[in-house]
Amino acid sequence: MKCEFIKCDGNQCEANAMADSQYCYLHNPDIPESEKKEAMSKGGKAGKSIVKAPLEDIKIASPEDLLCLVGATINELRAGVIDTKIAKALIYGATAYNKIYETALLEERLNKIEKIIK
Ligand SMILES: [Zn+2]
Repeated sequence: MKCEFIKCDGNQCEANAMADSQYCYLHNPDIPESEKKEAMSKGGKAGKSIVKAPLEDIKIASPEDLLCLVGATINELRAGVIDTKIAKALIYGATAYNKIYETALLEERLNKIEKIIK
């Protein structure tokens, strides 16, 4: 069974729900944030991420998708669910993606202008 959490993009979380819950580990409201933080701390000492549940692919096709990813990352970092290194890597990736997206948009606009001029 899939986790029933609805993400900020309106889609349902696609991670597998825990055996005794409707939610995955990350979204399970029955697991106290302090336990998630402790798990992160242990995971951090072992040099590994605490998020053991299989992660679903995140759709990134627009700036709105990036906003959703960055917002979720900031919230997970604040809640102590993910490690600072992971958050930094996600934000860095989102920034790189956004630059590529902006460049592609500018190139598309430039091509249209060049066609009009010719
Ligand atoms: Zn979930």
